Amino acid sequence: MSEPDNQPAASADSTDQIESAGVQITERDVVFECPHCQGELVVDREGAGLTVNCSLCSQPVTVPDYQGPSLHYLQAVTEKLSEALQTARKGTPRSFDYEGRPPEELERRRQEVQRQLRELQNQALEARAHINHTRIQLHRYQLKLEMLYERQTELKAELDALLSASQRPAP
Ligand SMILES: [Zn+2]
Repeated sequence: MSEPDNQPAASADSTDQIESAGVQITERDVVFECPHCQGELVVDREGAGLTVNCSLCSQPVTVPDYQGPSLHYLQAVTEKLSEALQTARKGTPRSFDYEGRPPEELERRRQEVQRQLRELQNQALEARAHINHTRIQLHRYQLKLEMLYERQTELKAELDALLSASQRPAP
């Protein structure tokens, strides 16, 4: 379940490094709590499974497995993206005046604009595919959660039956 690495630099969420509470966090980082001092530690996923010394209390800690981008990272990127969207919506629409410009300049610019447009269209397709995928995953987890609750109810009922039977032993 990995994110595509070929994010074009032009996208608003291209920032792969984000600051959270004064610590730089990237998509590749494992963010975890030191079991000794409860401080927040950030280690690149290459370090998963290794034992390192906590940068806060110097005690040895084992870096947990990488399980996709951390919540810290996702929250920070989402916040940033939402701010960028607000700014973009507030901005006054740009006007374009290319009157009297030399044809080669117009042609060069036309090609560049078309290239950017294609890139954004591809990014939009990709984002839509992610949304669909995530929606299905979400539905799957909701069903799974309901199944777990069903099973818990069943086990509790069985436990009750066992307890009450053991209080009234068979004659
Ligand atoms: Zn520590």
